[in-house]
Amino acid sequence: MAAPAFTITFLGTGSGVPSLERNLAAVAVQRQGELFLFDCGEAAQIQYRRAGLGFAPLSAIAISHMHGDHVTGLMGLLMSLQMADRAEPLDLFGPPGLGEYVRGCKRALQTQFGYRLNLREEGGLCLLRETATYSLHAAPLDHRVFCLGFRLEERPRPGRFDLTTARARGVPPGPLYGCLQRGETVTLADGTLVHASEVLGPPRPGAVLAYCTDTRPCDAAVQLARGADLLIYEGTFDATMTHEAHRKGHSTVADAAQVAAEAGVRQLVITHLSPRYQDVNPLLAQARAIFPNTRIARDLMRVEIHHREE
Ligand SMILES: [Zn+2]
Ligand SMILES: [Zn+2]
Repeated sequence: MAAPAFTITFLGTGSGVPSLERNLAAVAVQRQGELFLFDCGEAAQIQYRRAGLGFAPLSAIAISHMHGDHVTGLMGLLMSLQMADRAEPLDLFGPPGLGEYVRGCKRALQTQFGYRLNLREEGGLCLLRETATYSLHAAPLDHRVFCLGFRLEERPRPGRFDLTTARARGVPPGPLYGCLQRGETVTLADGTLVHASEVLGPPRPGAVLAYCTDTRPCDAAVQLARGADLLIYEGTFDATMTHEAHRKGHSTVADAAQVAAEAGVRQLVITHLSPRYQDVNPLLAQARAIFPNTRIARDLMRVEIHHREE
C-alpha cells in the first residue's frame, strides 16, 4: 500500500485536567517528512517523545485558544527545542494573546531561543500557510473565548501517468516521463510537443484534515470540515448533557457526529473527553448512532489517512 497522506498521533485526548489515562490536548500530524502540532497541552512534549516523534521535522505549531489545557505544554516544548540546538525557524500560529503569553514566559524564565520563532496571531478567517502541495487555513469557532479551528488541505495530485499513451506518442522512457508527471510539456527529438494532459489522467483529490476543538457545534466547524478525510472534533460531554455542554462552550459526542455528518467527512475521531468518563463505550455508541464511522481517541492512538483512489 502507498504511504499514508497523513499520520495522526493523538498525544493528549483529555480536557480540563490531565488524568493518568488522558493527557491534555495535543495532536501531531505527519505529512511527507513534515510534522504539524495542533495544540500543546501539558506534557505534550513527553507524549511526543513517547510516540517516537523526532523534533527535527516539527514545522509548525498551531494553538487553538488560550485555555490552559491547550497551551501549558508550549513553553516547555519550545525550551526543549532550544536545548536540542534547533537551528531551523519554527512557525507558531494561534489566537490573539499567544504572543503575550510566550513573551511573558520568556521574560519570567529569562530564556531566549536561538532559533527563529515566527509567531503569528490571527483573529479571524485566514490562510496560515500555502505551499505547492498543501494549505493550512484557520477559522474562528464558537467557544467561551476566541478559538480557532484548522483545516490542512492537500492540493489535488496529478492524474495517473498513462504509460501506454506515452509510448504511443513516442516519448522515450527516462527523464521526460518525470517532466510529464509533474505537469510539464516536453519536446521530443523530432520536435514534437507532448503535453502532460495527453498522458495524465484527471487530477486526483488530495487528503484533507480538520481540527476543531473547543467549540459548540457551529457552521464554521462544518465549513472547515467540509468533505474532509478526517475530522478531529471535541466531544467533552455525553449526548445527554447538551445544555451543560453548550452553556460551557463545548459539544457533546452527538454534536460531534452531527457536524461530521453535515460536513460529509469520511471519518470522525472524537477527542477532548471530560475526565468524568472512565468508560467511553456509551459515548461511542451515541456518536455512531448518528455518524457510524466514528472513533474515540485515546492517548498515543495513531490514525493513518490514505489518499482516495489508490
Ligand atoms: Zn479544552
Ligand atoms: Zn477551551
